[in-house]
Amino acid sequence: MATTVSAQEAKELAFSTIDAQSETLIGVSQSIFANPELGFEEHFAHDLLASTLDRNGFDVTRSAFGLQTAFCATVGTDGPEIGVICEYDALPGLGHACGHNVIAAAGLGAAIGLAPLATKLGGRLRVLGTPAEEGGGGKEFMIRAGAFDGLTAAMMVHPADHNLPTMKTLAFQGLVANYTGRAAHAAASPHLGANALDAAVLGYNAVAALRQHIRPAERIHGIFTKAGDKPNIVPAEAEAVWYIRAATTAHLEELKPRVLSCLEAGATAAGCELEITWLDPPYGEMVDNSSLLALYASNADLVARTFDSEAPEVVGSTDMGNVSQVVPSIHPMIAVAPPGVSIHTEEFAVHAGGESGDRAVIDGAKAMAATVIDCWADPGAITDVGSSRP
Ligand SMILES: [Zn+2]
Ligand SMILES: [Zn+2]
Repeated sequence: MATTVSAQEAKELAFSTIDAQSETLIGVSQSIFANPELGFEEHFAHDLLASTLDRNGFDVTRSAFGLQTAFCATVGTDGPEIGVICEYDALPGLGHACGHNVIAAAGLGAAIGLAPLATKLGGRLRVLGTPAEEGGGGKEFMIRAGAFDGLTAAMMVHPADHNLPTMKTLAFQGLVANYTGRAAHAAASPHLGANALDAAVLGYNAVAALRQHIRPAERIHGIFTKAGDKPNIVPAEAEAVWYIRAATTAHLEELKPRVLSCLEAGATAAGCELEITWLDPPYGEMVDNSSLLALYASNADLVARTFDSEAPEVVGSTDMGNVSQVVPSIHPMIAVAPPGVSIHTEEFAVHAGGESGDRAVIDGAKAMAATVIDCWADPGAITDVGSSRP
C-alpha cells in the first residue's frame, strides 16, 4: 500500500463515508426504481448515476464504449484497477422486479466510499454502467469495445431472496426462426399452399421430443411471434423465437445444431423455407473467481451478510458471465426479499423498492468497497484466472 493507512482503517473510513451518504444512495435507488427503463433506454438512470459520480470526484465518460446509456467513471492515478459494475435496466411490465436499482445504488455507494481513499491507498477504481442486462447483453458489447481491458478484478452484487455467493448461471443464446411458405385460400385451394405455421408447429414439437434427451441443466424454450393473419389464408409466414441454455458455452455449442435440426425438420415436412437469425450477443456462464469470492465473503460477514449455505440456488443467465470470462469476477447475491420470493415477480419488485432494498444498497456498497480495498492491498491474491473464452 502507498500509505500507512491499514486495510482495516481504510474499510472503517469507507463504511463511515457510505453511512454519511446513505440518504443520497437510497435516493438514487428509489429514483431509479420509480423510473423503470428498458434495456438501452436507461437515460434517466445513466444521467443520475453519471452526475452523482461526477459530483463525487470521478472522471466520468457518459455514453461510453459506443452505447448511449453506458458510462465509465474512474478515480485514482496509480496501482491495480478494480471494476465495480452498475446495472440499471428494468423488465417490461414488471419494472424493477430484478432489483437493478439496488445494483446501481450499491455500486455507486462502493464508489463514493472508495473515492477519497484511492490515491491514499495507491489503487484505481473503474465504475462501469452496463445497460441492458435483461437480454440486451450490454456488457458483451462493452467487452468488445475494451471497457474491461486492464482490470485486475470486477464485481457487482445482485438482489435475491438469500445472501448467496453466486447465481447458478447458464450459457445462453437466442434465435429467430422465420418460416416462409406459400399463401392459398384455405377452403378453395389448400393444395396450392405451403403452410408456414405447420412448419413452425412441427419444429416446436420436434424440440419437445428433443427435450427428453438433453442434459439436465439444458433448457430450450420458444414462442410463436407470427402465426398467420386469418384462418382462411394458408399462412405464408410464421416466426418463432427460441432461447437455448446450457451449463457451459461448450455444451451450448453442442446443443445448438440439435435444435436447428428440429426446426429444419418442421420446414422440410411442410415444404417451407427456414431462415435462422442468431441473436447477438450470446451470454457465457459465470466463472466465479474463488479468491475474490473469499475476500467478498469475509467482508460480507462484516455487514452481517453471511452466505446462506442451505439456500436454494438462483438460476438464470447474465452477461456478467461474459465479463467473468475475460476478468476475474464475482456476482454474489444479496438478500432483498424474504426466502422463496423469486426475482422477476411483482412481489420481488415491492421489496427491491422497499426498506430491505435500501438496506441491501448500503450493505452491498460496504461489502464491495471493503473487497476493493483488499484487492488494492494485495492484487496478487486474485489468482485462479480461469478463462474459458477463446
Ligand atoms: Zn433479471
Ligand atoms: Zn438481474
